[in-house]
Amino acid sequence: MTDGKSEQLAKAGRFSIRYGEDVIAYALRLQPQRQASSVAIHVESSGRVLVDAPVGATQTAVAQAVKKRASWIAQHVAEAKARLEHVRQREYTSGESVHYLGRRYRLRVKVDPASASSCRLRGGYLEVSVQRRAIQDVQAVMAAWLRHRAGEVLRERLDTIARRLRWVAVPPPMRLQWMRVQWGSCSPRGRITLHPALVQAPRDCIDYVVLHELCHLASHDHSPKFYRLLDRHMPGWRAVKSRLDGMAEELLRQ
Ligand SMILES: [Zn+2]
Repeated sequence: MTDGKSEQLAKAGRFSIRYGEDVIAYALRLQPQRQASSVAIHVESSGRVLVDAPVGATQTAVAQAVKKRASWIAQHVAEAKARLEHVRQREYTSGESVHYLGRRYRLRVKVDPASASSCRLRGGYLEVSVQRRAIQDVQAVMAAWLRHRAGEVLRERLDTIARRLRWVAVPPPMRLQWMRVQWGSCSPRGRITLHPALVQAPRDCIDYVVLHELCHLASHDHSPKFYRLLDRHMPGWRAVKSRLDGMAEELLRQ
């Protein structure tokens, strides 16, 4: 313990430990407000490992904390990499499939330097016209189109369903936001946030999410009262929800 070398104070920067065959690399940050001896480890969605330690922690203590959770870290890094792999599959080229209101369309990319970019459904195709052949351009045009459609479709479903519910006097304000872990949320002040990618899901799935959030206007938590309302207005919601859960990864692919 008194060995000067092993008691070296930790400094911020990049480090690594060996874990079986693997090397776990991590970025160490020092936080003055952190309690002595508490080390926090996060794995970002990119797979980057961040370690937060108090100022004054020793290099050995930090490495030990990382080692102790090495299997957890390795698992989360592997998951993040697998997710990225999946995301990379979308290339925004003709022939790829795109969902809209639960239907599968084929993407058709046209390059026309002379006309403004556009996006529209035509037969079984989602036709995207761009001025140059660049993935970012196709992605941006498609994302803008989906967001626009989401604004119209989700607002309409929200208004229609809200009108049927006794506890909703006026359809609540709505906004669209790309969220990491949920399709919708309801603020304490009654504003409903919906994920724009929800417009790709089948209509009953959209209605389930909208109804779920509207039920939160009557009951803010997932109380028995909340589930009674949900059951009454959509008796088959559990099956609809599990169908939506099964599609999530596909619909959230960018
Ligand atoms: Zn909820």
